[in-house]
Amino acid sequence: MLQRPRGTADILPNEQKYWKFIHEATAKVCEKFGYKRLDTPQFESKDLFIRGVGTQTDIVQKETYTFQDKGNEELTLRAEGTAPACRAYIENGMKNLQQPVRLYYHASIFRYERPQSGRYREHHQFGIEAIGDDSPLIDCEVIQIATDVIEVLGIPNTSLFINSIGGASCCRKDYLLSLKTYYSNHLELLCNDCNNRMENNPLRLLDCKQKQCQPFLEDAPHSIDSLCQECRDHHEKLLGYLDSLQLAYIINSKLVRGLDYYNKTVFEIQPETEGSQNTIIGGGRYDGLIEQIGGQSTPGIGFGCGIERLILNLKSNNIEPPEIYEKPVVICHMGEDALNIAVPLSKKLRSNNIHTIIAPYGKSIRSQMRYASSNDSDYVVIIGEEEIKQKTYRVKDMNKSTEYDLNESDLINLILKI
Ligand SMILES: [Zn+2]
Ligand SMILES: [Zn+2]
Repeated sequence: MLQRPRGTADILPNEQKYWKFIHEATAKVCEKFGYKRLDTPQFESKDLFIRGVGTQTDIVQKETYTFQDKGNEELTLRAEGTAPACRAYIENGMKNLQQPVRLYYHASIFRYERPQSGRYREHHQFGIEAIGDDSPLIDCEVIQIATDVIEVLGIPNTSLFINSIGGASCCRKDYLLSLKTYYSNHLELLCNDCNNRMENNPLRLLDCKQKQCQPFLEDAPHSIDSLCQECRDHHEKLLGYLDSLQLAYIINSKLVRGLDYYNKTVFEIQPETEGSQNTIIGGGRYDGLIEQIGGQSTPGIGFGCGIERLILNLKSNNIEPPEIYEKPVVICHMGEDALNIAVPLSKKLRSNNIHTIIAPYGKSIRSQMRYASSNDSDYVVIIGEEEIKQKTYRVKDMNKSTEYDLNESDLINLILKI
């Protein structure tokens, strides 16, 4: 039997209400803040992710779906959302618009990861990017959107963690140096990955999940202590704005995020019970990214949010989105003459915005009624010999078990409850 690839999922009809709920709620929050939707291709040139995400990240080293197409182009399935948005910003001349440019997206993300609960090789992300503004005001706005999304979805008991990892061209170097100095005393006790990180990506030392590396986290230097004046001001202004919103946050000096392009503000929203393994929203500032992928130096900040992860949280909190399918009227019919009436009637009902299904062909009335029940119908219309003769419809109210003989307009009025 052919099966879907490992780490992918079919989103079945009865799951769709979660997706619709999340898509609509997130779009609404974004649009309230003046963000507009951007869609980018499912695949990009391989170089975009190499230059944008960084060769030292797990994503580029182990997780991209990269292939050569028939024209020998090296392409990569979208491995994250920010680099494509920045590529689109550059390529479409958004630099010439009034800044900042505010964008949101819903997109599939492809990563070759070990599948586990809420983690897929094709997963779906909602994200936003605010490009062209380096002020802490926009950091506050982006974080506010993240917390508003959690609030409108009704997910309780989450924590907002914030850190500043400093600017790439100012104080980050000092911090990396103190981090390396600290860890260099423990090299032989660190895992292999961390030994590599010492050279390639020392920030990620703080992100290691290996047991043997945990004891060293406690006393590791904090990036906030190494911030230069400008980065410190930025960070403190941001916290001031968040305070003015009475938005609760926790400063977490271990928070670094998994991508190379972040600088200054980074943040995550985590469920209180599950912690960082199950981050719902993660983001930060990426002031160097656009230049790195070939644009003029332009600051940016954004976040990504895994939709599968959100759905797990909705379910674990017993949050039921509204049903998306209206209950259909089912038209039951006895014989070909009845069908010649059922077919145009179904068209008439639908033109009155009544969801309508014609019961399966060639089945007994009992079986057609069972079909109506399985579709949760409130009303069934029956067309038999008698109805054809009288030019009426027998309508059964499935909830009250009452029946009426009605003409077409009374039938429509009854269903529309006019
Ligand atoms: Zn700095
Ligand atoms: Zn480690």
